[in-house]
Amino acid sequence: MTTPDDGTLADRIMSAMTSSGGAGPCSCEELADQVYEFLDSELADDNRERLRQHVATCESCRGEVDAAEHVRAILRRSCAEQAPDGLRARIVSQLSVVEVRRTTW
Ligand SMILES: [Zn+2]
Repeated sequence: MTTPDDGTLADRIMSAMTSSGGAGPCSCEELADQVYEFLDSELADDNRERLRQHVATCESCRGEVDAAEHVRAILRRSCAEQAPDGLRARIVSQLSVVEVRRTTW
């Protein structure tokens, strides 16, 4: 029996440590990973500050945040368009249909 997970984890930690160079407080990968949390302000203050500083100094990540913000704005808009009162009413009526069925059975 082998435990490849142990080796993989260690490798990942090592590569994560070396890829960040030990100098950058936040890597591009990390930002790409948390860009939506960053936009939603769902991160802890210190973590958000790290990402914010990275975005301020990293051109490509600024583009990433810009793009994500754009995508989110579009999604939010299309969600608002797709979920009007009519849809909610339909869902509610569906739910009551299920309830009615259950009681008649
Ligand atoms: Zn970056």
